[in-house]
Amino acid sequence: MALAYNKSHVRSIRGELEDLGTGFDFESVRNVILDLGDLKNNGIYEEFFDIYKRWEDPIGVLTSAYNRLPFTSPLLQQAMSNNLTPEKSNIFSGSVDYFSFHQFYRFLERIYSMNLGRGLQEEDVKAIFSSNILERIILGLENFDRVNSTENFDDSFFHNIKEVKWTDKHTERFFDKLHDLLISKSFNDIGTREIIFKRELKRIVKFLAVCSTVNKKRIHITTIDVINAYKTIFKIIKTDITHLVNKREYKGLLICSKCNGYYNLEDDEIPDDFTHCRCGGTLTYVQSLEEAAYYGNFKENKINRKILIAGTLASLTAAITLINLY
Ligand SMILES: [Zn+2]
Repeated sequence: MALAYNKSHVRSIRGELEDLGTGFDFESVRNVILDLGDLKNNGIYEEFFDIYKRWEDPIGVLTSAYNRLPFTSPLLQQAMSNNLTPEKSNIFSGSVDYFSFHQFYRFLERIYSMNLGRGLQEEDVKAIFSSNILERIILGLENFDRVNSTENFDDSFFHNIKEVKWTDKHTERFFDKLHDLLISKSFNDIGTREIIFKRELKRIVKFLAVCSTVNKKRIHITTIDVINAYKTIFKIIKTDITHLVNKREYKGLLICSKCNGYYNLEDDEIPDDFTHCRCGGTLTYVQSLEEAAYYGNFKENKINRKILIAGTLASLTAAITLINLY
């Protein structure tokens, strides 16, 4: 299908972009603005920001479980062993440090929550921290979902990011202004939450721009790296990352309080893969049979996978077929 440009629309964007300075690719910036427009038109951006606004930490920051989280992430361990430690980092600085990685995981928690359509539990957070999603993003940027292996992610990355700097003041100003422009297009009203979101998003985008620079074996961030970073962040927001989390973190079981059946999840399954039991009962995820005992008597009542109803449409058809055979 041939698409005809709406000339007046292009002209109006061109007017806005004149403020960004010179020396950038007009078409690429226009595409970034269109990507944001798509996210808004599909309601994804609003849904994501809504989750962001109403966010409650699944794991309290003062708990030992929270303190153990960095130890579940090979990437954070690798960052720390390369001298990028929390002690040497500043959450409010604009440079890439330990918190850039940590904050990115927190960003992915919100994406995952949006994908699952529910608040997160401890396992969900661990499934993100212990996955290789962030390595994929660093290596593949916009094509992170097509990265096959993260094995060649080595220590050189941590040395290289320390060297990266802006090409010049114009490039840095381009980033500032483009960010202002995209945020102004994101929200009708800018309140406190929007301002905090704007600041956190900017830090993440800067981190991605640095990754883009390092991937191209350069040390100077260009406007192309900034544009790549926005393309990546918008791609992440619209991607269902469920298949990229570390599902082995779900070591518990699903229980049905109606028939007292229980089901141990397989390595490649998450609780949300199933909606309810064949008996019509709702399923609850618990960490152990001991915890399940709190809900009823679950001993000696293990249920077969095929009497659970799968959540996705494709698996649902398979499940119905299985049930008919059962
Ligand atoms: Zn049941």
